[in-house]
This record gives sequence, C-alpha cells and structure tokens, in this order.
Amino acid sequence: MNLQQEQTEALRALIDRPRQHIVIVSHTNPDGDAIGSSLTWATILRRQGHVVTCIVPNKYPYFLDWMTGIDEVIIYRTDEEGRAARAIAEADQIHCLDFNTLSRLENLSETLASNTTAERVLIDHHLSPGPEFDLELSFPDSSSTCFIVYSLIEALWDTQAITKEMAELLYVGIMTDTGNFAYSFLTPELFRAVATLIERGIRIPEIHNSVYNSYTEGRARLFGYVIHRKMKTLEKGKAAYMSLLEDEMRRYRFQQGDSEGFVNYPLTIKKVKMSAMFLAHHKFIRVSLRSRADVDVNLFARKYFNGGGHKNAAGGKSFVSMEETIEHYIRSVREFAEEGHL
Ligand code: 5GP
Ligand code: MN
Repeated sequence: MNLQQEQTEALRALIDRPRQHIVIVSHTNPDGDAIGSSLTWATILRRQGHVVTCIVPNKYPYFLDWMTGIDEVIIYRTDEEGRAARAIAEADQIHCLDFNTLSRLENLSETLASNTTAERVLIDHHLSPGPEFDLELSFPDSSSTCFIVYSLIEALWDTQAITKEMAELLYVGIMTDTGNFAYSFLTPELFRAVATLIERGIRIPEIHNSVYNSYTEGRARLFGYVIHRKMKTLEKGKAAYMSLLEDEMRRYRFQQGDSEGFVNYPLTIKKVKMSAMFLAHHKFIRVSLRSRADVDVNLFARKYFNGGGHKNAAGGKSFVSMEETIEHYIRSVREFAEEGHL
C-alpha cells in the first residue's frame, strides 16, 4: 500500500483540531480486523485529547471477548440506553473503519447518515469505496485495515507510539484477515510491521490460541456435520457450497461466530476453486464466498448476490428461501464458468 502525503496531511489536519468528538464505526458482523483496528485507532485518538466512541451494528464473536478494551465497544442493536445515537448526534468526526459503504452498516446506516455535518473519514481495504466520505483512505492492496492503521500511526506519529496493548490488537486483525499469513498482499512492509509488533512484546502463540482455539464443543461437532453432510460440489468439482438452516444451528447450540472459517474448508480440496456458505438468519440468508488465485468472488458477489468484498473473499445476501438461494447459486456458477471466470 502506498500512503499519499496529501492524504496523511489531510488526516493530520482533522486530528490536530482541538478536542473533537469522534465516533469510530465498523461493519456488521465485526471481525478481528474491525475490532482490532477500531480499538487501536480509538486509543491513539484519545491520546491526542479527543473524546472517542466505538460503535458496531451487532455483536462480535465470543472468541474476541478477551481483546483489551472490547467492553467499551457499543453494540448498536442492543444499545437500549441510546448511547450510540447520542454519540453519533454529537460527533464532529465519524471514522469508518474496515468497510466501504454506509449501507454495510445495516440498522446503523440511517442513524449515522442523520449526522450530516460531521466529517466522514474512511479507513479501509475493500474494493470500490462509496462516494459518501469527505476523506477517503482506501487501500484495497492492504491485507487488513489493521495494517493501514499501523501505517497511519507510523506516518503521523511514529511506531514508538504503539504500546504492547495496541500491538496485540493490531496483530489480531493482521493475523485473521491474512488467514494467518496465507492470503494475498503479504509484502515485506507487512512483515516489517509484524516485527515491530513483536518488539513491543506481543506473544503470537497466545494470540493465536485465544482466537483460533477457543471454540465450543458444539462448534467442532457442527463443523463435522457441515463438511460431512452438507458440502456439495458442482462444475466437475471446481465449485462447492454448504448451507445451514436455523434448526441445524440450534441443534449444535450455535453462537455468532461459530461458522467462522467453514467456508474456507472446501478450498483445501485441490480441485475446488470457489466455495460458498449459506447461513440462514431470521430475515435473510447470509452468503459467504471464498476463492483462490484468479477466481474473482468479489465480481461474483456483486453480480449475483448484491454484495462485494475482496477478490478472494466476498459476501452478500439472499432474500429468498434456502432452496431458491442454492438454485440461484448453481445457475450463477454455471454462467460464471461459461463466461470463463471459473
Ligand atoms: P464474510 O464471508 O467473512 O462475512 O465476508 C467476507 C468479505 O466480504 C468481507 O470483506 C466483507 O466485508 C465482505 N462482505 C460480506 N458480506 C457483504 C455484503 O453483504 N456486501 C458487501 N459489499 N460486502 C460483503
Ligand atoms: Mn478487514
């Protein structure tokens, strides 16, 4: 990623304003990168004397509960006291981290958009940012938003400003969004950043254990069930999909976050180039897509599931039944293959 001086100076000008009320907001179904980048950015902005509130639309998965400062993140969906709405109404600046358009905030988008005077800053690594931001720091070639936050801290202050707590938060986002250093954009700069985080005293095996080895027994059994009973392949084994209905999730005492990683698993099969997971929610079906190499699931998600994301990891939604969603997927994969994308 290449930070332009113009951009960092514009950001510096905003941060140099005295005592601003700043809301940091991240995406629906917040993940390690969303939480890690928000909490680190909040810490550094508070150090500059600003009043900072972190908000997410819904709850983060339980295996992130241990992250330092996570209790201060307001979950909009269950915020009965209206703390989030008040903070948004009073905000001088709204910093949007790890998502690219306000519509990704679902139930929170309208409340956020109702503050029309706050400066809106985007700090993100998804493709195709929306037009609704006053300052756009969009780096689709960064493997995570945490790495962007790291680079911004380096440019605006110095990496000396990074404490051990911040280093740990940043590492969570870098580790999870790179799939443990297995996906794209693994640059020398990224590994230099990780080296600096290690110098701050973080313990990588402990962080790894806290995030990846903290699931429930139900989740392990659900995983076995999904792979054994629900995974199907099509297009001569080049594409795969799995689905989960609400009663199946109940059977395994499903908790938010339990299906994390399932969609990646079919890609461990040599022939499979693209994988989909359909997860039933009360109002719609959440679609998760993963691919390898040149197969572009961002394109697929945009075209067939009204979604988006990254080239090899994208998502969307479906508002018809599971059966119809799967039929639509099968038809879409066929067309996608016929057009030479698979
Ligand atoms: P996940 O499958 O982990 O939920 O999402 C994978 C990627 O796709 C993430 O980068 C996420 O931001 C993006 N994504 C997931 N759902 C949607 C969606 O409904 N719309 C858009 N534009 N992107 C999505
Ligand atoms: Mn991210």
